[in-house]
Amino acid sequence: MDKYADMQKLADIPQSTLIDMRSDTVTRPSPAMREAMFHAEVGDDVYGEDPNINALEAYTAQLLGKEAGIFLSSGTLSNLTAMLAHCERGEEIIAGDQYHTFIDEARGASVLGGATLHPLTTDKFGRFDQHALLAAIKPDDFHFPISRLLSLENTVSGCVQDQNHLNALADTAHEHGLNVHLDGARLMNAAVKQQVKPAELTEKMDSVSLCLSKGLGAPVGSVLVGSESFIHKARRLRKMLGGGMRQAGILAAAGLYALKHHIEPLAEDHNKAIQLAGALDALHGIEVDMERVQTNMVFVKTRTEDSESLQDFMRQNGVIIGAERNVLHRDISMDDVDKVISLFQQFYRQH
Ligand SMILES: *Cc1c(COP(=O)(O)O)cnc(C)c1O
Repeated sequence: MDKYADMQKLADIPQSTLIDMRSDTVTRPSPAMREAMFHAEVGDDVYGEDPNINALEAYTAQLLGKEAGIFLSSGTLSNLTAMLAHCERGEEIIAGDQYHTFIDEARGASVLGGATLHPLTTDKFGRFDQHALLAAIKPDDFHFPISRLLSLENTVSGCVQDQNHLNALADTAHEHGLNVHLDGARLMNAAVKQQVKPAELTEKMDSVSLCLSKGLGAPVGSVLVGSESFIHKARRLRKMLGGGMRQAGILAAAGLYALKHHIEPLAEDHNKAIQLAGALDALHGIEVDMERVQTNMVFVKTRTEDSESLQDFMRQNGVIIGAERNVLHRDISMDDVDKVISLFQQFYRQH
């Protein structure tokens, strides 16, 4: 079925009764977060006068150890703004072939900015090595685009990237005159998992994009951070791309609330993923990639003949599962996980 026709039908079901494991983007603002939004003072952010946006930008910059930040309406806009700020037309971005920047952003940097993307083959954990990076960085030869940016990602499909490895890649990129951007949509999952300060994961990165609307549970928004001069450039680009917002402080208040209250609880999402993965792995008829259960995602393979009837069975019981990827988040309780596990057990008893 057409994916979007399907979503239309889902919109008719009261969302609060569903256990939705398609993504952590489905998280809804909690009552306390809505309270913070309700009371948020606002101003015109294009004039730089929204107190909550200013506070969110400063708070995120500090959290990630950078000079400045800018609030954007989505992670895609944040990555696009970053790539355009780093690259001129005719320059090139090197990124993993499974990264969001390469496969899920409609190649905006190329379409709108004339910057090409050079994909590097990643393994199932989202990794590529130094040799691949070195081979992709072009020499100064007029036949080639100018390699300008290495775009990294952490987590990649729920996998935590080895920090020494990312740092070594960043060093190599810098030695060759490239800047380094980190798509840290789910960086807080990586920080919580490794029990390190987020800034330890971003020290070598020139810019970092963080999503507030995934597991952190804010309804909208991402923050891009970097040096003062980089963010200055990003502000012009954001306006040009139509991303300048006005009294968006109600959204920033939600984002600030998320950063202050929802980072540590990501550990619970990771526990829920382990619970679910372990139980499903014990069933015949379904395979779980246990090596990739590192944060809040569980990748499963079902027999092809089962996959549609499994999805239908789950849906009849108020559970939406992904075809392969299932994502745990703050709107799924441990009781919900137990319910999902017993539904899977029930299904596989009959199949
Ligand atoms: C979700 C996500 C983004 C940005 O997505 P938006 O839906 O535009 O907010 C970027 N990178 C990664 C890795 C993501 O998971």
